[in-house]
Amino acid sequence: MASYSSVDEYGGFDFSRALASDFGLGSSAITSNTSAAPSLPQQSNVSAFKMPLTPQLNALAIVPGSCPQCKGRKYNFTAYFHNTKYFSSSPHHLLSYIERSYVLKNQLQSLLVEWAMNPRRPIIEFADIAEPQIRAWERRVQYLVETVLEFATSKGLHQGVGARKTDTVLRWTGKMVTRLEDTVWERANFQVSQSEMVSLLFQFRKLWESVWVGLVEDERSQREMSRSS
Ligand SMILES: [Zn+2]
Repeated sequence: MASYSSVDEYGGFDFSRALASDFGLGSSAITSNTSAAPSLPQQSNVSAFKMPLTPQLNALAIVPGSCPQCKGRKYNFTAYFHNTKYFSSSPHHLLSYIERSYVLKNQLQSLLVEWAMNPRRPIIEFADIAEPQIRAWERRVQYLVETVLEFATSKGLHQGVGARKTDTVLRWTGKMVTRLEDTVWERANFQVSQSEMVSLLFQFRKLWESVWVGLVEDERSQREMSRSS
């Protein structure tokens, strides 16, 4: 039996900490400042920003929480979208896709907690329950990739960096699905600790981020080319 990783303790799992850690605190390998990435819904630390703004001021302000295009969504993306460290221009037009990638990440977290962190035993007795959940998640990832590729194609960017990066998302997802399925069918033992799970979720989010950043850069190059031609 293969062993992907091992762990001997499950206790003390702190869900909110795991999620907060998803944005850069959980992986020592990645040291860039990701504190601007959005966290959980209703966790905006900018709700104190309530001063009324004129439309002109509002348009200028990129104070977190004040952007009308980022506002009012399930996840607060304002600080993240307006951080030029990530995006040369704010990817508002990608917001619905990005939101969906976060939902997929949260669903992956549920799968990992249920089947790789603290699975019921013997796990093979629950394989018939686990397998459809794992497959459904994979299909949702594939569907989002297809949707994003359709968008890229509609913009003439199907050969761009953003579109190509979706391959990496699919490969990573395929491996994750294999690991989870091997585990629930007891062909292998893929057990993750809390910190390993946080690291995996971080990887998933970063792979999607490379798609969004790629698309934004592809669009910028396209604009520059059309200007110079
Ligand atoms: Zn915005």
